[in-house]
Amino acid sequence: MGEVDTSARRRAEYSTDASLYRVPPALVAFPRDPDEVVAVVATCRELGVPVTARGAGTSIAGNAVGPGVVMDLRRHLGRVLSVDPEAATATVEPGAVLDDLQAAARPHGLRFGPDPSTHSRCTLGGMVGNNACGSRALAYGRTADNLLGLEVVCGTGQRLAAGPGAAGRVPGLEAVVRAGLGPIRTSFGRFGRQISGYSLEHLLPERGGDLARALAGSEGTLAVVLRATLRLVRAPAATALVVLGYPDLAAAADAVGAVLPARPLALEGIDARIVEAVRRRGRAVPELPAGGGWLLAELGGGTPAEAEAAAGRLLAAAGGDAVAGRVLADPAEAAAIWRIREDGAGFGGRSPAGAPAWAGWEDAAVPPERLGAYLRDFEELLAGHGLGGIPYGHFGDGCLHVRIDFPFDRPEGRAVYRSFVEQAARLVAAYGGSMSGEHGDGRARSELLPLQYPPDALAVMAAVKAVLDPDDLLNPGVLVRPRPFDADLRRAMARPFAAPLGFRYPEDGGDLVGAVHRCTGIGRCVADNTAAGGVMCPSWLATRDEKDTTRGRSRVLQEAVNGTLVRGLAAPEVREALDLCLACKGCASDCPTGVDMATYKAEVLHQAYRGRLRPAAHYSLGWLPRWAALAARAPRLANRLLATPGLAGAGRRLAGVDPRRPLPRFAPRTLRAWWRRRLPARPGPAGGPRVLLWPDTFTDHFSPAAGRAAVRVLEDAGYRVDLPDQPLCCGLTWISTGQLTVARRVLRRTVDRLAPLVGDGVRLVGLEPSCLAVLRHDALRLLGPDDPAAAAVARAASTLAEVLGATPGWAPPDLDGVAVVAQPHCHQHAVLGWEADRELLARAGAAVTAVGGCCGLAGNFGAERGHYDISVAVAETALLPAVRAAGPDAVVLADGFSCRTQLDHLAARHALHLAELLDRSGR
Ligand SMILES: Cc1cc2nc3c(=O)[nH]c(=O)nc-3n(C[C@H](O)[C@H](O)[C@H](O)COP(=O)(O)OP(=O)(O)OC[C@H]3O[C@@H](n4cnc5c(N)ncnc54)[C@H](O)[C@@H]3O)c2cc1C
Repeated sequence: MGEVDTSARRRAEYSTDASLYRVPPALVAFPRDPDEVVAVVATCRELGVPVTARGAGTSIAGNAVGPGVVMDLRRHLGRVLSVDPEAATATVEPGAVLDDLQAAARPHGLRFGPDPSTHSRCTLGGMVGNNACGSRALAYGRTADNLLGLEVVCGTGQRLAAGPGAAGRVPGLEAVVRAGLGPIRTSFGRFGRQISGYSLEHLLPERGGDLARALAGSEGTLAVVLRATLRLVRAPAATALVVLGYPDLAAAADAVGAVLPARPLALEGIDARIVEAVRRRGRAVPELPAGGGWLLAELGGGTPAEAEAAAGRLLAAAGGDAVAGRVLADPAEAAAIWRIREDGAGFGGRSPAGAPAWAGWEDAAVPPERLGAYLRDFEELLAGHGLGGIPYGHFGDGCLHVRIDFPFDRPEGRAVYRSFVEQAARLVAAYGGSMSGEHGDGRARSELLPLQYPPDALAVMAAVKAVLDPDDLLNPGVLVRPRPFDADLRRAMARPFAAPLGFRYPEDGGDLVGAVHRCTGIGRCVADNTAAGGVMCPSWLATRDEKDTTRGRSRVLQEAVNGTLVRGLAAPEVREALDLCLACKGCASDCPTGVDMATYKAEVLHQAYRGRLRPAAHYSLGWLPRWAALAARAPRLANRLLATPGLAGAGRRLAGVDPRRPLPRFAPRTLRAWWRRRLPARPGPAGGPRVLLWPDTFTDHFSPAAGRAAVRVLEDAGYRVDLPDQPLCCGLTWISTGQLTVARRVLRRTVDRLAPLVGDGVRLVGLEPSCLAVLRHDALRLLGPDDPAAAAVARAASTLAEVLGATPGWAPPDLDGVAVVAQPHCHQHAVLGWEADRELLARAGAAVTAVGGCCGLAGNFGAERGHYDISVAVAETALLPAVRAAGPDAVVLADGFSCRTQLDHLAARHALHLAELLDRSGR
């Protein structure tokens, strides 16, 4: 049955989805074609082993986990097989990703209608499984409404083409429908967002006995999809977004009825709590009209003017109820608002009080006209349980999303969860709603179905299951014969981690367990985020293996910290999981839940090698600042020795460095040595403000030209530049190799020396982004958030662009029309931000292409033996293609020493630091 993996590491990776539940499979299978899927099902039938189909595993209710075989259908079965522009249809394999289908359909002016927020990674098979829909369900319906036919294998092993009339081809199914006509007609398909339970209404004779549509939302419990034929829709040529402000979220919900007649494509609700959460994560929020709750209405048109006119009409019509309103015609602003909505589940991963907030009661829906009243009662129920969350949702459809801070880290967590969810289910039933309005029932709601459905309706569901999957082979525990919804709770099973920690984890209450459980599995790390300027997750982009995702690593760490599937942080499974983590910190900014794998990797290395012999690279690359200081005594000799054939090879071997990696050359004169010579003749303007330029190890020993350029640029801008009078290192190389005791010692000395120099508002300019990021971010996590010296240095730490951009009267040199390909360093992207650089270059008139992703060298990572091929593959995901496409005259800009080294080596392109570009152009 194709590729299978029974390793503990792999089982850990697939032990949960984006839900609360943890159910380690016995093995994970990766079928390569539909016949292999059928073979997996047949083998499981023979052996009586359950099997759960899985796409991207972004289900929130525990729909995509199972105890027997988990079948990953995304890995090898992800092709869009055809798009027929005439018929407006497409045929896909089950693991095809929605965005790939949209990309194939777009050139024909077509799209697949349903658009779950996870469109960048969710699969069409998974969308059928959950009957997925999203913001634009108002216009295009759910997945069921856009299905033309499915090829499936049922739990009985029968392989068939499901579609209209297919109910008759399954022995016994028509009889079940005939016997259950009454309950099917009265209990199913009552309103659009009735996602809980099976969609049996599609089996009715008056609906054409459409088995394909009835299978939508059956969560892989009746059949496995092998191929799907889908209806495509013509997307409007232009859209415009109207934002309407109301006093609060419930008032916004009350106004839905007044907005719906304008026939928006989407009608969403958010409030001040999510906006605040987004701002807390350092993301910009476009200006919103006055109010505490907002409706976001998207209008379509044949042209931008038409769409804007429709938006204007809505604004005028809705003006009565709204406090204020605004049309966001700028697509970038509109995209930023949609991004907030799409990442809502991630941002809502912390309650307003800052506690971890969880799925579990996430997506209930009520008829839209009753949403405001439901929301008020729901918030009362939350308050009554002492719980909090950030609600938002698809208000036009009456669907409310929220993550709730159930206290799973406390003994009473499970009981609080049960009590709240049972009462919430009763509340929804009282409003005539559905416990799930989007994500399906999974393990979170199946047990509660009797609160929503009468016994005769449940009996028909059981009878349908008995026909299509009589042996409970497919995804058992879900929908029919459910597991208790408070069984298998991942966070509630976690045990405390006792060993003293290297980092302080201030955002997680000092708790490593809380930190590694930040990952809730939403799966932004299994999507290509580079096109939007993101970084996460470079290793996955290179290998496409779950092992190399932020999510997969988090799963292994959760098991290791808990000592369950994986025995502790020193276990080989942890080593394998973290081996290809570049410590780029991409996740720290791009993952909405704030996972910081670079920190966890450093912690793991610190714990695992405490008092033990470390890999050679830890002594060579990890201690680089010390070796560089030694080499600075005779840099030419050091370079000659490192270039001597034989000696260089032996040196690399001893140092754990890949033989194909050229060694960087020590500068003949360090920046500090140059500065000492220049000191008496320094021409800095008397009376100008002081800045302290920090010669980090890389600038000082390898790249002093960038430092010299920075001195000139800052002086030209009117600053009196100073350098510290002794070498001060941030400890980065010790951090990235997990030598945290040394790192803390080094940092202690550095911040204690720097703090007195940055009093009175003196800025500390750092040129190497990763070193500066340590001072701004990691130092507080190593030395403690209340450490006064670390805090003073963190406040003063600035990039060159930040300082120059805020200098009154300073104007950048003229770069009008100069093509610049810029690679923001990963730590700059994640910690420091690149906005100041972008603005500065725009002011200079440069034509900038900013490249997403990571350069692949990432400090010690790409130099270490065993990482060369991946390092190159990562560089090939975004940086190298962008540089090749740019042509020979373009300036390549890269502030990171690693990025410049990688470009030198792999593209034979000499990249400049921003200081060098400004210095060169200013002369
Ligand atoms: C942050 C976030 C936002 C979300 N937003 C939305 C949203 O807006 N709208 C929405 O509908 N959902 C949403 N979801 C839930 C989920 O992402 C979607 O339902 C998505 O379509 C699931 O696709 P997947 O590939 O991840 O499926 P999976 O999670 O892998 O599987 C989904 C279900 O389908 C079954 N399945 C998978 N493949 C097959 C197959 N080939 N044959 C039969 N059954 C199969 C699985 O067993 C499982 O029961 C969101 C989830 C997250 C984490």
